[in-house]
Amino acid sequence: MNKLIAVNSLEDIPAEYQQTPIGLLLEYHNLNRPYEAYEKAQLLIGMCMDNRKHLHMPDNYAFIIRAGGANLRYSEFKVSYAIAVGQVSHIALIGHNNCGMVDLVARKSEFINGLVEIAGWEKEKAEDHFRHFSPMFEISNEKDFILSETMRLRHSYPKIIIAPLFYLVEDNQLYFIEEE
Ligand SMILES: [Zn+2]
Repeated sequence: MNKLIAVNSLEDIPAEYQQTPIGLLLEYHNLNRPYEAYEKAQLLIGMCMDNRKHLHMPDNYAFIIRAGGANLRYSEFKVSYAIAVGQVSHIALIGHNNCGMVDLVARKSEFINGLVEIAGWEKEKAEDHFRHFSPMFEISNEKDFILSETMRLRHSYPKIIIAPLFYLVEDNQLYFIEEE
């Protein structure tokens, strides 16, 4: 199991990320670094749509793509845009514990009944929808998924620095996921 690296001081930030927009994100969020003024985004953040998470960072600091499980597989064009047009060279990929995209099958009836009762869908359409999309969005394990997504993005964008991070909903702090 990959460990989480807590960041309680500057020295806790892994050397390769110190003095980068990723290290600075940890300084702003975990270490209360005073906000500087930014005119353009310094990095791209990919994080889950989950409502329990809020990042502390200055205005204009980052592009953010929020998607279930911080899964950017279906947001590739937006990632490319942030890099090519937004000119960011760093990506922080932030997973979190208790993510709803783990074990989707356990929420199948809740999902289908919710679409029927809340959205007014026909049951059959809701079932097809779940069957078609849940395998695309299931992430199985939060940390493993972030690590595999980090590897995938490093392969796609070889010159971009990408860090696997984790947000614990209990303490609202950011952690690095240790890589082997
Ligand atoms: Zn989530």
